[in-house]
Amino acid sequence: MSKLYQKSLVWLRRDLRLHDNTALYQAHLRSEKVNLCFVFDTEILNALSDKKDQRVDFLHRILLDIKETLKKLQSDIWILHGDPKTEIPSLAKSIQADAVFANRDYEKYGVLRDENIKKSLNLQNISFEDYKDQVLFEANEVLTKTSTPYSVFSPYRNNHLEKLKLTGAGRLNYKVDTINFEKFSANKMPPLAEIGFESTNISNLPIALKQSQIQSQIKDFEGRLNNYDQTRNYPAIKGVSYLSVHNRFGTISIREIADLCLNNLNSGSNTWLNELIWRDFYFQIIVNFPHVQDGKSFKQQYDQLEYENSDHLFEAWKTGNTGFPIVDAAMRQMNQTGYMHNRLRMIVASFLTKDLLIDWRWGERYFKEKLIDYDFSANNGGWQWAASVGCDAQPWFRIFNPLLQSQKFDPEGKFIKKYIPELEGFDKKSVHEPHQKNSNITYAKPAVEHALQRQKALQMFEKINNVVKKQH
Ligand SMILES: Cc1cc2nc3c(=O)[nH]c(=O)nc-3n(C[C@H](O)[C@H](O)[C@H](O)COP(=O)(O)OP(=O)(O)OC[C@H]3O[C@@H](n4cnc5c(N)ncnc54)[C@H](O)[C@@H]3O)c2cc1C
Repeated sequence: MSKLYQKSLVWLRRDLRLHDNTALYQAHLRSEKVNLCFVFDTEILNALSDKKDQRVDFLHRILLDIKETLKKLQSDIWILHGDPKTEIPSLAKSIQADAVFANRDYEKYGVLRDENIKKSLNLQNISFEDYKDQVLFEANEVLTKTSTPYSVFSPYRNNHLEKLKLTGAGRLNYKVDTINFEKFSANKMPPLAEIGFESTNISNLPIALKQSQIQSQIKDFEGRLNNYDQTRNYPAIKGVSYLSVHNRFGTISIREIADLCLNNLNSGSNTWLNELIWRDFYFQIIVNFPHVQDGKSFKQQYDQLEYENSDHLFEAWKTGNTGFPIVDAAMRQMNQTGYMHNRLRMIVASFLTKDLLIDWRWGERYFKEKLIDYDFSANNGGWQWAASVGCDAQPWFRIFNPLLQSQKFDPEGKFIKKYIPELEGFDKKSVHEPHQKNSNITYAKPAVEHALQRQKALQMFEKINNVVKKQH
């Protein structure tokens, strides 16, 4: 039976893989021949101030790997550089594609871009088809009994999990070499410099840059998955998956990793599956409550919080020089590697907003610059949670004590010493508050006093809560 389309163009965006890719598989089912493309989007790249950006380097290397795989199948991938609103319709026309296939985006920029491109394509009689792929369930698929979106995680999780167990993750098990890729040669991969960027330290970091390495990383984590609930909170232990960059860029499929859990349910895998559900939860928040995409707090009364916003304290936080070792080690980890452990993200975010009394949006913006796994929904959700301004957030009166967090989650001070060599000689007790033992060290003195700042933070929240109370 002949297929609907002679030729289709699959536009990869944040789904950089050939296996278990919904748009690619749908294009294969509906088209005689499939071409692939990727656009280095100038709208996004021009906004990046540091031209040594790990994410651009990561994309570049992953695309090279995809190109090599396709070459082995006598096919290729078009690599473009420009504004997708002109690049995609122009490529589709020049290769005489009947349809463009893509996996759906949920951030405003992506949604608007795709609407525009769909219109331009349709004017040329080219179809545009988009699919769910990034998430297990989309924003309108897990709703309350009255069809409203959830803003509290636990009932959302229960409903999500019930559905997931019923339907399964829906992994697509096709073999890559059975896809109807067109046999052709595309343009060469432009060097990083040609798109205005430089290579970074990424190849010296434990980040998988080829699909074969990524699959080994998944296997490695599968062996540790059963202990995840025991080890996940300790940054000095290899307890988490370190797969976030791959979730961000779709170099793995969310379905393949959800399957790891569904095929092996125990306390470790259940806890990890919960984290994957948090990911879906925050995606549905940005769609169902779009005001969070405009820099607003989920609980909008907290947009009136009067932060002190000291530039000098912000600089100390950014550079890892606040004098609170667990905070500084975490910030230095992110500055050096582009990654920060989840427990530490919670600690530094709480510290910025409730100890340094700096607006959570400042921290959100800094993470956006630095994190290799930066994802608007998870980052915004995480910051709003820690700052107590989000949906289902940490209650405003619960303020992490950085010293206790440090003693509990890095008891030997191993993680601290890895990133703060100045503290190498300190024992496991004094490493958490080194100036108590030795005030002559080069390491920064505590920039603030936690007990005092805690009181100020409580007052800052109480002031708004009282205003809101009076209004009702
Ligand atoms: C202030 C703050 C900012 C954050 N910014 C980001 C961000 O920009 N990008 C990002 O992917 N995650 C972010 N997170 C969530 C979490 O910290 C990271 O996903 C996690 O540390 C990544 O490491 P991992 O892959 O080893 O995690 P694992 O513990 O192995 O988790 C597995 C996967 O689940 C997802 N996940 C885990 N925790 C969360 C969560 N709380 N919310 C949403 N998804 C989650 C991630 O995709 C992760 O790869 C943030 C959390 C906080 C508190």
